Amino acid sequence: MKNDIIIAIDGYSSTGKSTLAKQIAKALNYIYIDTGAMYRAVTFYALKNNLISPKHFNKTQLIKDLDNIDIDFKYNPEKGFAEVYLNGKNIESEIRKMQVSNFVSDIAAIPEVRQKLVAQQRQIGQKKGVVMDGRDIGSVVFPDAELKIFMTADPNIRAQRRYQELKNKGLDINLQEVLDNVKKRDKIDSERSTSPLIQTPDAIKIDNSNLTRKQQYEMVLNLAKQKIETNKTASSKN
Ligand code: C5P
Repeated sequence: MKNDIIIAIDGYSSTGKSTLAKQIAKALNYIYIDTGAMYRAVTFYALKNNLISPKHFNKTQLIKDLDNIDIDFKYNPEKGFAEVYLNGKNIESEIRKMQVSNFVSDIAAIPEVRQKLVAQQRQIGQKKGVVMDGRDIGSVVFPDAELKIFMTADPNIRAQRRYQELKNKGLDINLQEVLDNVKKRDKIDSERSTSPLIQTPDAIKIDNSNLTRKQQYEMVLNLAKQKIETNKTASSKN
């Protein structure tokens, strides 16, 4: 629709970006895109094709293979969000495993990988009416997004939440492993040279260490509604 906006939700690992983004997309009847799932899909491909392990990383081959990596989203009405597909196969649950989390930030630091995924993300958001979560949505993918949110929280709280989420999915993990992974990804994501995780000056920072999901949701939904109104007023004057 003409007055639809782009909502960019960036921030540190396990700050609940995707939960919030899904809720907001649902309330506004917008498309939700989990860009982390796209970087996870490329990582899953690299692992399946033995291109990465703790001992080696064949970046050259991965870059050569990028044209053969087709990432897609298909809406699952039962789950209420779009699941990620790699070359036609649903890999939504595979990409949440620790093995993928352990390598994803190294894969996401490769400029060629980012170039491919950012192009696809811009294509999806072309018509607006999207909520996209990630690390560089407000800074690189959609620098003109009407609403930019930057999420943060205490690392111990984030790790505890992620641990509980993975446990609930039946995964065999321990809290220390999750905390180490969260901290490691934050460091790599913030320090990489291509599109590092940053808070842009126009982004609204939300520290949700002490916020309930409901409080956070209401806060962001209100902000989104205000931006949509502003957009309507601006376009009615043109
Ligand atoms: O959002 P999620 O934690 O699933 O993202 C996994 C990883 O993908 C991040 O730690 C980061 O390395 C990478 N990522 C990124 N840019 C994005 C989204 C995710 O670099 N827009």
